Amino acid sequence: MNVLVINAGSSSLKYQLMNPETGDVTAKGLCERIYIDGRLTHKVGDKKVVKDIPMPTHSEAISAVLDILQDAEHGVIKSVDEIDAVGHRVLHGGMKFSDSCIIDDACIKAIEDCIPLGPLHNPANLMGIRACQAVMPGKPQVAVFDTAFHMTMPPKAYRYAIPTEYYENDDIRRYGFHGTSHKYIARRVAALLGKKEFKLVNCHLGNGSSLSAVKDGKCMDTSMGLSPLAGVPMGTRSGDIDACVVQFICNKYGMSVDDCLTMLNKKSGVLAVSGVSSDFRDLEDGAANGNADCQLALDKFCYEVAKYVGAYAAALNGIDVLTFTAGVGENGPDTRQAICDYLGFMGIKLDPEKNKVRGKEQLISAPDSAVQVWVVPTNEELMIAQDTAELVNG
Ligand code: AMP
Repeated sequence: MNVLVINAGSSSLKYQLMNPETGDVTAKGLCERIYIDGRLTHKVGDKKVVKDIPMPTHSEAISAVLDILQDAEHGVIKSVDEIDAVGHRVLHGGMKFSDSCIIDDACIKAIEDCIPLGPLHNPANLMGIRACQAVMPGKPQVAVFDTAFHMTMPPKAYRYAIPTEYYENDDIRRYGFHGTSHKYIARRVAALLGKKEFKLVNCHLGNGSSLSAVKDGKCMDTSMGLSPLAGVPMGTRSGDIDACVVQFICNKYGMSVDDCLTMLNKKSGVLAVSGVSSDFRDLEDGAANGNADCQLALDKFCYEVAKYVGAYAAALNGIDVLTFTAGVGENGPDTRQAICDYLGFMGIKLDPEKNKVRGKEQLISAPDSAVQVWVVPTNEELMIAQDTAELVNG
């Protein structure tokens, strides 16, 4: 089976053509500068081709993807009929979606209804869906939501301690994101352990970072909230912050709330603390060269991640497995070590040799660690392809 996985942004569109059973990626790529001019980067194995193609809308971008997939020189299929289904990443499913769903008129309407909760991403995701409908009419399509995995959280985890009317009238609550990644890791750990009952804290640490507390495959709590701004400090996001900071800054500098939120989303996090970069490689280089602010940014990040692990160990009444995934989680041995150094009180102990691993699935805890610690590379596209295949095949 071939599933085309689409992640549509406002001016970009990532795609992968993959086999959901084997995880094999036949081709993948990126359309950029949609609405501006248009550029397609297409990869098959080690071969890469870049083409400037006019993309006045997402429809032309999807057409360009289908053309190159069938191209005599760079293509991997002979006809669009070889694509069995399309899986779309959709940011916000609000309270309407606790699972992935076959795209029909009702599903589209529900995604539209969630636009107030995901004002930047949901409209872009819908453009990707509509473009595929226009270019591949009748092709089965599935929406896979970043929030869906977290819908098993109990009310004590998802309700904010603010007047009920905002929850009842406006759906304001914790939703959480990176759900497709957290779900993939939970499934992968179940396969690694050969059982379904275990308590897991997954640390998805990348440019955006979130943690989730998972019991027997179900999400019990997660660090992001109504939006991806909440939780641990990230590349450019502040993470959790006292709301009075917004009031103070807006009042003192005559800044609008929207501008202040842009600052908290785009100019904060480890970028702000270090004053150097949002990229952990730059921070590690800076710290190694004696830059105290880079070291502080790394310390702050690891400290806050460790605090969440401790909190989730309490929420789950103990944990069996701790996992690290995404760019930093998979490739940052020093970051993993610094986080786990805080967690010795829980009996967590890394094997320094095994912890040197980068980008590969591996048990990194010492044999006498009370908790198994793993590096598990995430694969959100595979999770989307598998959900799509499951739904389309009934
Ligand atoms: P992601 O958002 O999952 O793509 O993760 C991006 C983050 O992963 C960036 O901050 C990168 O610096 C970090 N990253 C990627 N490779 C490495 C590496 N080899 N060592 C440390 N951090 C890395």
